[in-house]
Amino acid sequence: MVATTPGTQVETLRNYVGGRWVAAEATETQEVRNPATDEPLARVPLSGGADVEAAVTAAAAAFPAWRATPPQERARHFFALRQLLVEHRDELARLIVTEMGKTLDDASGEVQRGIDNVETACGIPTLQMGYGLEDGAARGIDEEVIFQPIGPFAAVTPFNFPFMIAFWFWPYAVACGNTFILKPSEQDPLVMRRTFELIEQAGFPPGVINLVNGGKDAVNALLDHPGIKGISFVGASKTAAYVYARAAANGKRVQASGGAKNAIVVMPDANMDAYLSTIMNSFYGAAGQRCLANSLVLPVGAAHAEARERVAAAASKLRLGDGLEKGVDLGPVVSAAARDRIVAAIGAGVAEGAEAVLDGRGAHVPERPKGYFVGPTLLDGVQPEMGVYTEEIFGPVVGMSPVASLDEAIARINAADYGNAASIFTESGGAARKFRYEVETGNVGINVGVAAPVSYFPFSGAKRSFFGSLHPQGRDAVRFYTQSKVVITRWTGGDGAPVSGVGR
Ligand code: NAD
Repeated sequence: MVATTPGTQVETLRNYVGGRWVAAEATETQEVRNPATDEPLARVPLSGGADVEAAVTAAAAAFPAWRATPPQERARHFFALRQLLVEHRDELARLIVTEMGKTLDDASGEVQRGIDNVETACGIPTLQMGYGLEDGAARGIDEEVIFQPIGPFAAVTPFNFPFMIAFWFWPYAVACGNTFILKPSEQDPLVMRRTFELIEQAGFPPGVINLVNGGKDAVNALLDHPGIKGISFVGASKTAAYVYARAAANGKRVQASGGAKNAIVVMPDANMDAYLSTIMNSFYGAAGQRCLANSLVLPVGAAHAEARERVAAAASKLRLGDGLEKGVDLGPVVSAAARDRIVAAIGAGVAEGAEAVLDGRGAHVPERPKGYFVGPTLLDGVQPEMGVYTEEIFGPVVGMSPVASLDEAIARINAADYGNAASIFTESGGAARKFRYEVETGNVGINVGVAAPVSYFPFSGAKRSFFGSLHPQGRDAVRFYTQSKVVITRWTGGDGAPVSGVGR
């Protein structure tokens, strides 16, 4: 927990429960700071069982009427919300930068991705439709499936996309007729507070969507509460595995996205002129704090020398600074603790024998002397047995590990515990197809650095990067948040038999 600075007066955030902003019953709080300046921004309550109980009670009470609201009417709330989000796009993006550190461009992109999911959820009358077949079960017996809402769901989200990731979930759950509780990251909860003010303005009935601030106590209370029907989670793999097991043991459906160690393969025929900027963005965008950040490069054969030279040259030109300032490419990392962890990981890599082509330790921004900065880092000669190869560093640190062939690159990627994403850069259709066919990750990029699925596709992930089967976003989300109910019907006389007949 961050220590309080004596004498600083900042607001303590409230929860949004049953359509009202309420103080948490829990008295423990944690400080939220601006990572570029180290200034305190707010205190977040670490809600506990009583706060979760209040939210579940509100969500359960709101469910019957919301469920009975026709899908088209439910969708209208999302049309209203979409308009409000568009009008407040810049304000939301600035809030993200202030509490999380990414650049304003990046934060604007994040807000747009959230809005995309609201737009997709507006299509719920079509997305939630079932299907049926006359005589599907037998002659005169029809069969259909309908997708019904289930009740209160909850999502627990990470710090790195404090706006977007909540929108992978709640718009679909609520559009389907469920009610919802969101528990955002305690590291950067301010953008969700503002978002919930807009949600309130959009006219969602009280209790349909609730906000509970906090950390692991709130999460445990959600995982254990019998009134919560399912849990959506995004965070580190260790937390995801824990959430998956505990929620499942309590009989809930769960989708839990975990961490990543994504690799790009650079073939000797890669068009580096065309794709260097997408590669650089995938390495250092959001200071490497994206689950789709590429943190390993596997250059094949002769690709090594050029990849090393061009990445190092481009990385050394990146401008470090406060994400709110124009021309800044790389903001701070989220906290002083994250900075110290990343710096230690670079040191460990060098101690294990990696060569620091660019070393971001000790980075300093004169105008922001208290910011949590790590400069762009490139380590070459990284070997599969090193910690910098296997562990998610979640900072602006890239490891280069040359391989002899595409087969070796694919084998390396498939040997990893994580399976979030992988990309290949090549002008060969055959190499690209082989890669797409064989690689065991949930998301694949072909000449694309950040293989981020848009809202009407599932945000995939495999192995220790995803626990469950139905993913966030789009049709997968609609299936996750609904119960399939199969109805088999026959009517006396319906198959042409006499109405007085006894049937089959
Ligand atoms: P985290 O696991 O520390 O926290 C995520 C959420 O879990 C937070 O809301 C936090 O309050 C809660 N939490 C943390 N520890 C807990 C515990 N012991 N018990 C119960 N709840 C707990 O993750 P983070 O640092 O906020 O986010 C970064 C991680 O998220 C990275 O590993 C990143 O790869 C991953 N991520 C994955 C995806 C994806 O789609 N796979 C997307 C974004 C981020």
